[in-house]
Amino acid sequence: MAYVIEPPRPVVVPVLGDGLFPVRRVYCVGRNYAAHAREMGADPTREAPFFFCKPADAVVSVGPEGVLELPYPVATANLHYEAELVVAIGLGGADIPVDEALAHVWGYGVGLDMTRRDLQTALKDKGRPWELGKAFDRSAPLSTLVPAGAIGHPQRAAIWLERNGESRQRADIADMIWSVAEIVAHLSRYFRLEPGDLVFTGTPDGVGPVVAGDVVEAGVEGVGRLRVRYV
Ligand code: MN
Repeated sequence: MAYVIEPPRPVVVPVLGDGLFPVRRVYCVGRNYAAHAREMGADPTREAPFFFCKPADAVVSVGPEGVLELPYPVATANLHYEAELVVAIGLGGADIPVDEALAHVWGYGVGLDMTRRDLQTALKDKGRPWELGKAFDRSAPLSTLVPAGAIGHPQRAAIWLERNGESRQRADIADMIWSVAEIVAHLSRYFRLEPGDLVFTGTPDGVGPVVAGDVVEAGVEGVGRLRVRYV
């Protein structure tokens, strides 16, 4: 049977060195650093992590050397950056125990959970879903991925973001309220994880606006970095 319309192209992310990682789903964790939860007006107690999703084709990849030019998105006057460690799932599973969770992680990257903060805030205030604020086109710029086979599973590493060369976010992934293993285990109780899933693990404090002309650069020590320019 022939396709009646052209099937969408698979979304792929380059792997450092060689290879392509095909993206199936994109999960994101909300408020996973205490100082960021506070800056968003929430109480950073260790309540269960919460999740939202972006479509796979929100991912746009950026190599370590290049600068990705992105159009300032429509329908917002307050686009925000959020630098995040991104987990790439290589082995599927459901109800994964915490002590087995890292075996399901193929590798890591650095991503930007770009947010139309004005829309997200209005939706939050009305108790409505966040898609318009979070799941828009090109809302998930992502670095080259690096296999855990090459770098291990980082437990402690600087995570940082600069806007136009000025430091805006700086923390350590050890500051995450829920660790990578705990996030994978928890998420797998609600969705069967499959190879190709990505998990954005939350952002530290210091989120802020981007305007056209800005260059945003983010990294996680030992994992990678990415640079985007909004035009
Ligand atoms: Mn985020």
